Amino acid sequence: MFEMNAEILKRLRVKPGKKISLARDFDPDFDASLSREESEAALRESVGRLTELQDKLYAQNTYSLLVIFQAMDAAGKDGTIKHVMSGLNPQGCQVFSFKAPSQEELDHDFLWRPAKALPERGRVGIFNRSYYEEVLVVRVHPEFLERQQLPPHAKGKGVWKQRFQQINNFERHLVENGTVVLKFFLNVSKDEQKKRFLERIAEPEKHWKFSAQDVVERGHWDAYMAAYQECFRATSTDWAPWYVIPADDKAFMRVAVAGIICRALEKLKLSYPVIPSDKLHALADAKAALEAE
Ligand code: ATP
Ligand code: MG
Repeated sequence: MFEMNAEILKRLRVKPGKKISLARDFDPDFDASLSREESEAALRESVGRLTELQDKLYAQNTYSLLVIFQAMDAAGKDGTIKHVMSGLNPQGCQVFSFKAPSQEELDHDFLWRPAKALPERGRVGIFNRSYYEEVLVVRVHPEFLERQQLPPHAKGKGVWKQRFQQINNFERHLVENGTVVLKFFLNVSKDEQKKRFLERIAEPEKHWKFSAQDVVERGHWDAYMAAYQECFRATSTDWAPWYVIPADDKAFMRVAVAGIICRALEKLKLSYPVIPSDKLHALADAKAALEAE
Protein backbone atom coordinates (compact mmCIF):
# COMPACT_ATOMS: atom_id res chain seq x y z
CA MET A 1 0.00 0.00 0.00
CA PHE A 2 1.31 3.45 -0.92
CA GLU A 3 2.09 5.65 2.03
CA MET A 4 2.94 9.31 2.12
CA ASN A 5 6.26 8.77 3.86
CA ALA A 6 8.80 11.29 5.06
CA GLU A 7 10.98 10.86 1.99
CA ILE A 8 8.23 11.67 -0.54
CA LEU A 9 6.99 14.48 1.67
CA LYS A 10 10.44 16.01 1.66
CA ARG A 11 10.57 15.91 -2.13
CA LEU A 12 7.24 17.72 -2.44
CA ARG A 13 7.76 20.33 0.26
CA VAL A 14 9.35 23.66 -0.55
CA LYS A 15 12.06 23.91 2.06
CA PRO A 16 11.70 27.22 3.91
CA GLY A 17 14.40 29.68 2.99
CA LYS A 18 15.67 27.63 0.07
CA LYS A 19 16.17 29.20 -3.33
CA ILE A 20 14.23 26.60 -5.29
CA SER A 21 13.85 26.44 -9.03
CA LEU A 22 10.41 25.23 -10.07
CA ALA A 23 11.66 23.84 -13.36
CA ARG A 24 14.70 22.09 -11.89
CA ASP A 25 13.44 20.86 -8.54
CA PHE A 26 9.81 19.96 -9.20
CA ASP A 27 8.79 17.64 -12.01
CA PRO A 28 5.08 17.85 -12.98
CA ASP A 29 5.31 14.16 -13.85
CA PHE A 30 6.52 12.45 -10.69
CA ASP A 31 7.01 8.72 -11.17
CA ALA A 32 5.56 7.09 -8.10
CA SER A 33 5.22 3.76 -9.95
CA LEU A 34 1.68 3.35 -8.72
CA SER A 35 -0.84 1.28 -10.65
CA ARG A 36 -4.37 2.62 -10.97
CA GLU A 37 -5.61 0.09 -8.42
CA GLU A 38 -2.87 1.03 -5.98
CA SER A 39 -3.56 4.73 -6.17
CA GLU A 40 -7.31 4.18 -5.83
CA ALA A 41 -6.75 2.00 -2.78
CA ALA A 42 -4.37 4.55 -1.28
CA LEU A 43 -6.85 7.37 -1.83
CA ARG A 44 -9.67 5.34 -0.25
CA GLU A 45 -7.49 4.63 2.74
CA SER A 46 -6.54 8.31 3.21
CA VAL A 47 -10.11 9.50 2.75
CA GLY A 48 -11.20 7.04 5.43
CA ARG A 49 -8.56 8.35 7.81
CA LEU A 50 -9.56 11.92 7.00
CA THR A 51 -13.18 11.15 7.89
CA GLU A 52 -12.12 10.02 11.36
CA LEU A 53 -9.72 12.89 11.85
CA GLN A 54 -12.31 15.46 10.84
CA ASP A 55 -14.81 13.98 13.27
CA LYS A 56 -12.36 14.52 16.12
CA LEU A 57 -11.37 17.96 14.85
CA TYR A 58 -15.03 18.97 14.96
CA ALA A 59 -15.72 17.38 18.36
CA GLN A 60 -12.63 18.88 19.96
CA ASN A 61 -13.41 22.33 18.54
CA THR A 62 -9.92 23.68 19.20
CA TYR A 63 -8.04 23.58 15.91
CA SER A 64 -9.11 24.37 12.38
CA LEU A 65 -7.59 23.44 9.06
CA LEU A 66 -7.10 25.78 6.13
CA VAL A 67 -6.17 24.13 2.84
CA ILE A 68 -5.11 26.40 0.01
CA PHE A 69 -5.05 25.34 -3.64
CA GLN A 70 -3.25 27.35 -6.28
CA ALA A 71 -2.62 26.27 -9.85
CA MET A 72 -2.66 27.17 -13.49
CA ASP A 73 -5.98 26.51 -15.24
CA ALA A 74 -6.92 22.87 -15.83
CA ALA A 75 -4.40 21.58 -13.30
CA GLY A 76 -7.20 19.80 -11.47
CA LYS A 77 -8.09 21.93 -8.44
CA ASP A 78 -11.80 21.16 -8.63
CA GLY A 79 -11.33 17.40 -9.07
CA THR A 80 -8.80 17.23 -6.25
CA ILE A 81 -11.11 19.10 -3.89
CA LYS A 82 -13.98 16.81 -4.86
CA HIS A 83 -12.06 13.56 -4.38
CA VAL A 84 -9.95 14.37 -1.35
CA MET A 85 -12.84 15.90 0.57
CA SER A 86 -15.35 13.23 -0.45
CA GLY A 87 -15.35 11.62 3.00
CA LEU A 88 -15.82 14.83 4.97
CA ASN A 89 -18.95 15.73 6.86
CA PRO A 90 -20.30 18.77 4.96
CA GLN A 91 -21.35 20.28 8.27
CA GLY A 92 -17.73 20.86 9.25
CA CYS A 93 -16.37 21.79 5.88
CA GLN A 94 -16.52 24.85 3.63
CA VAL A 95 -15.08 25.76 0.23
CA PHE A 96 -14.47 29.32 -0.83
CA SER A 97 -13.53 30.15 -4.44
CA PHE A 98 -11.61 33.33 -5.08
CA LYS A 99 -12.65 35.06 -8.29
CA ALA A 100 -11.72 38.50 -9.52
CA PRO A 101 -12.46 40.85 -6.59
CA SER A 102 -15.62 42.92 -6.41
CA GLN A 103 -15.60 46.71 -6.00
CA GLU A 104 -16.32 46.30 -2.30
CA GLU A 105 -13.40 43.91 -1.93
CA LEU A 106 -11.10 46.26 -3.83
CA ASP A 107 -12.02 48.97 -1.35
CA HIS A 108 -10.42 46.94 1.46
CA ASP A 109 -6.90 45.66 2.00
CA PHE A 110 -6.19 42.37 0.23
CA LEU A 111 -6.45 40.22 3.37
CA TRP A 112 -9.97 41.38 4.19
CA ARG A 113 -11.67 38.98 1.81
CA PRO A 114 -9.82 35.84 3.00
CA ALA A 115 -10.12 36.86 6.66
CA LYS A 116 -13.91 36.74 6.33
CA ALA A 117 -13.77 33.31 4.75
CA LEU A 118 -11.57 31.55 7.33
CA PRO A 119 -12.79 28.30 8.90
CA GLU A 120 -14.10 28.41 12.45
CA ARG A 121 -12.54 26.22 15.11
CA GLY A 122 -13.29 22.58 14.47
CA ARG A 123 -13.76 23.10 10.76
CA VAL A 124 -11.98 22.47 7.51
CA GLY A 125 -11.84 25.44 5.14
CA ILE A 126 -10.74 25.10 1.57
CA PHE A 127 -9.57 28.03 -0.51
CA ASN A 128 -9.93 27.33 -4.21
CA ARG A 129 -7.39 30.01 -5.23
CA SER A 130 -6.67 32.47 -2.45
CA TYR A 131 -5.00 35.70 -1.41
CA TYR A 132 -1.93 34.33 -3.20
CA GLU A 133 -3.55 35.62 -6.40
CA GLU A 134 -2.46 39.00 -5.05
CA VAL A 135 1.18 38.13 -5.74
CA LEU A 136 0.49 35.99 -8.82
CA VAL A 137 -2.19 37.20 -11.24
CA VAL A 138 -1.85 40.74 -9.91
CA ARG A 139 1.90 40.58 -10.51
CA VAL A 140 1.49 39.21 -14.03
CA HIS A 141 -1.11 41.92 -14.79
CA PRO A 142 0.09 45.20 -13.21
CA GLU A 143 -3.16 46.91 -14.26
CA PHE A 144 -4.92 44.90 -11.51
CA LEU A 145 -2.69 46.53 -8.92
CA GLU A 146 -3.52 49.91 -10.38
CA ARG A 147 -7.23 49.20 -9.77
CA GLN A 148 -6.65 48.71 -6.05
CA GLN A 149 -6.54 52.42 -5.14
CA LEU A 150 -3.42 51.92 -3.07
CA PRO A 151 -1.33 54.70 -1.53
CA PRO A 152 2.09 55.18 -3.20
CA HIS A 153 4.04 53.26 -0.55
CA ALA A 154 1.87 50.17 -1.05
CA LYS A 155 2.35 49.87 -4.80
CA GLY A 156 5.96 50.84 -5.33
CA LYS A 157 8.94 48.71 -6.21
CA GLY A 158 8.92 46.82 -2.94
CA VAL A 159 5.27 45.84 -3.17
CA TRP A 160 5.77 42.08 -3.68
CA LYS A 161 8.29 41.76 -0.88
CA GLN A 162 5.96 43.72 1.35
CA ARG A 163 3.02 41.49 0.45
CA PHE A 164 5.04 38.30 1.03
CA GLN A 165 5.86 39.57 4.48
CA GLN A 166 2.25 40.53 5.18
CA ILE A 167 1.11 37.07 4.07
CA ASN A 168 3.72 35.36 6.26
CA ASN A 169 2.65 37.43 9.26
CA PHE A 170 -1.03 36.73 8.57
CA GLU A 171 -0.41 32.99 8.37
CA ARG A 172 1.77 33.01 11.46
CA HIS A 173 -1.04 34.71 13.33
CA LEU A 174 -3.49 32.04 12.16
CA VAL A 175 -1.20 29.17 13.09
CA GLU A 176 -0.45 30.61 16.53
CA ASN A 177 -4.18 30.79 17.14
CA GLY A 178 -4.93 27.18 16.23
CA THR A 179 -5.34 27.04 12.45
CA VAL A 180 -3.24 24.54 10.54
CA VAL A 181 -2.33 26.05 7.17
CA LEU A 182 -1.45 23.77 4.24
CA LYS A 183 -0.70 25.16 0.79
CA PHE A 184 -0.75 23.10 -2.38
CA PHE A 185 0.44 24.13 -5.81
CA LEU A 186 -0.87 21.67 -8.38
CA ASN A 187 2.02 21.63 -10.80
CA VAL A 188 0.73 20.84 -14.27
CA SER A 189 3.07 21.01 -17.27
CA LYS A 190 2.41 23.32 -20.17
CA ASP A 191 1.98 20.34 -22.53
CA GLU A 192 -0.52 18.64 -20.27
CA GLN A 193 -2.50 21.86 -19.92
CA LYS A 194 -2.77 22.10 -23.70
CA LYS A 195 -4.02 18.51 -23.87
CA ARG A 196 -6.68 19.21 -21.25
CA PHE A 197 -7.82 22.43 -22.95
CA LEU A 198 -8.19 20.53 -26.22
CA GLU A 199 -10.26 17.88 -24.44
CA ARG A 200 -12.49 20.55 -22.99
CA ILE A 201 -13.04 21.96 -26.46
CA ALA A 202 -13.63 18.54 -28.02
CA GLU A 203 -16.13 17.24 -25.46
CA PRO A 204 -19.50 19.03 -25.22
CA GLU A 205 -19.89 18.04 -21.52
CA LYS A 206 -16.65 19.84 -20.77
CA HIS A 207 -17.37 23.03 -22.72
CA TRP A 208 -18.58 24.79 -19.58
CA LYS A 209 -15.15 24.35 -18.04
CA PHE A 210 -13.45 26.14 -20.87
CA SER A 211 -12.96 29.86 -21.11
CA ALA A 212 -11.14 31.66 -23.91
CA GLN A 213 -9.49 33.74 -21.20
CA ASP A 214 -7.69 30.61 -20.01
CA VAL A 215 -5.79 30.51 -23.30
CA VAL A 216 -4.87 34.18 -22.91
CA GLU A 217 -3.45 33.43 -19.44
CA ARG A 218 -1.55 30.47 -20.89
CA GLY A 219 0.21 33.02 -23.06
CA HIS A 220 1.75 34.42 -19.85
CA TRP A 221 2.99 31.01 -18.73
CA ASP A 222 6.61 32.03 -18.10
CA ALA A 223 5.60 35.12 -16.17
CA TYR A 224 3.33 32.99 -13.99
CA MET A 225 6.06 30.43 -13.34
CA ALA A 226 8.45 33.21 -12.35
CA ALA A 227 5.84 34.70 -10.01
CA TYR A 228 5.06 31.29 -8.47
CA GLN A 229 8.71 30.52 -7.96
CA GLU A 230 9.39 33.75 -6.14
CA CYS A 231 6.25 33.34 -4.12
CA PHE A 232 7.26 29.87 -2.93
CA ARG A 233 10.74 31.01 -1.99
CA ALA A 234 9.33 33.83 0.09
CA THR A 235 6.23 32.22 1.64
CA SER A 236 7.08 28.58 2.29
CA THR A 237 7.61 28.82 6.03
CA ASP A 238 8.04 26.40 8.89
CA TRP A 239 4.56 27.29 10.07
CA ALA A 240 2.83 27.25 6.68
CA PRO A 241 4.80 25.31 4.07
CA TRP A 242 4.09 25.02 0.37
CA TYR A 243 3.80 21.64 -1.31
CA VAL A 244 4.38 21.42 -5.03
CA ILE A 245 2.29 18.48 -6.19
CA PRO A 246 2.99 16.87 -9.57
CA ALA A 247 -0.30 17.30 -11.42
CA ASP A 248 0.18 15.58 -14.77
CA ASP A 249 -0.99 12.33 -13.19
CA LYS A 250 -4.29 13.13 -11.50
CA ALA A 251 -4.40 9.92 -9.48
CA PHE A 252 -1.04 10.52 -7.84
CA MET A 253 -1.88 14.18 -7.24
CA ARG A 254 -4.98 13.27 -5.24
CA VAL A 255 -3.19 10.59 -3.24
CA ALA A 256 -0.38 13.00 -2.41
CA VAL A 257 -2.70 15.80 -1.26
CA ALA A 258 -4.82 13.45 0.86
CA GLY A 259 -1.72 11.90 2.41
CA ILE A 260 -0.24 15.26 3.36
CA ILE A 261 -3.49 16.48 4.92
CA CYS A 262 -3.78 13.27 6.97
CA ARG A 263 -0.23 13.58 8.25
CA ALA A 264 -0.75 17.20 9.27
CA LEU A 265 -3.93 16.38 11.19
CA GLU A 266 -2.37 13.32 12.81
CA LYS A 267 0.38 15.52 14.19
CA LEU A 268 -2.25 17.41 16.20
CA LYS A 269 -3.00 14.27 18.25
CA LEU A 270 -6.70 15.05 18.12
CA SER A 271 -9.00 13.38 20.59
CA TYR A 272 -12.65 13.43 21.56
CA PRO A 273 -13.38 15.70 24.53
CA VAL A 274 -13.38 13.86 27.84
CA ILE A 275 -16.58 14.46 29.79
CA PRO A 276 -15.83 15.78 33.31
CA SER A 277 -16.96 13.55 36.15
CA ASP A 278 -19.86 15.79 37.25
CA LYS A 279 -21.25 15.57 33.70
CA LEU A 280 -20.87 11.79 33.85
CA HIS A 281 -23.26 11.80 36.80
CA ALA A 282 -25.67 13.83 34.70
CA LEU A 283 -25.45 11.15 31.99
CA ALA A 284 -26.23 8.44 34.50
CA ASP A 285 -29.17 10.46 35.83
CA ALA A 286 -30.49 10.99 32.30
CA LYS A 287 -30.20 7.27 31.60
CA ALA A 288 -32.12 6.43 34.74
CA ALA A 289 -34.82 8.99 33.90
CA LEU A 290 -35.20 7.62 30.35
CA GLU A 291 -35.42 4.08 31.54
CA ALA A 292 -38.02 4.99 34.16
CA GLU A 293 -40.34 6.56 31.54
P1 ATP B 1 -10.94 28.56 -11.80
O1 ATP B 1 -10.31 29.36 -12.90
O2 ATP B 1 -10.29 28.78 -10.46
O3 ATP B 1 -11.13 27.12 -12.12
P2 ATP B 1 -13.46 29.66 -12.57
O4 ATP B 1 -13.01 29.47 -13.97
O5 ATP B 1 -14.77 29.11 -12.13
O6 ATP B 1 -12.39 29.12 -11.56
P3 ATP B 1 -12.94 32.45 -12.89
O7 ATP B 1 -14.08 33.32 -13.18
O8 ATP B 1 -11.95 32.09 -13.94
O9 ATP B 1 -13.47 31.16 -12.16
O10 ATP B 1 -12.21 33.13 -11.62
C1 ATP B 1 -10.94 32.87 -11.33
C2 ATP B 1 -10.12 34.02 -11.84
O11 ATP B 1 -10.13 35.06 -10.88
C3 ATP B 1 -8.69 33.62 -12.06
O12 ATP B 1 -8.25 33.98 -13.33
C4 ATP B 1 -7.95 34.40 -11.01
O13 ATP B 1 -6.68 34.77 -11.42
C5 ATP B 1 -8.85 35.59 -10.78
N1 ATP B 1 -8.61 36.20 -9.45
C6 ATP B 1 -8.72 35.60 -8.25
N2 ATP B 1 -8.33 36.43 -7.26
C7 ATP B 1 -7.96 37.58 -7.86
C8 ATP B 1 -7.46 38.81 -7.38
N3 ATP B 1 -7.26 39.02 -6.09
N4 ATP B 1 -7.20 39.79 -8.28
C9 ATP B 1 -7.40 39.57 -9.60
N5 ATP B 1 -7.87 38.42 -10.11
C10 ATP B 1 -8.15 37.43 -9.26
MG1 MG C 1 -11.11 30.14 -14.67
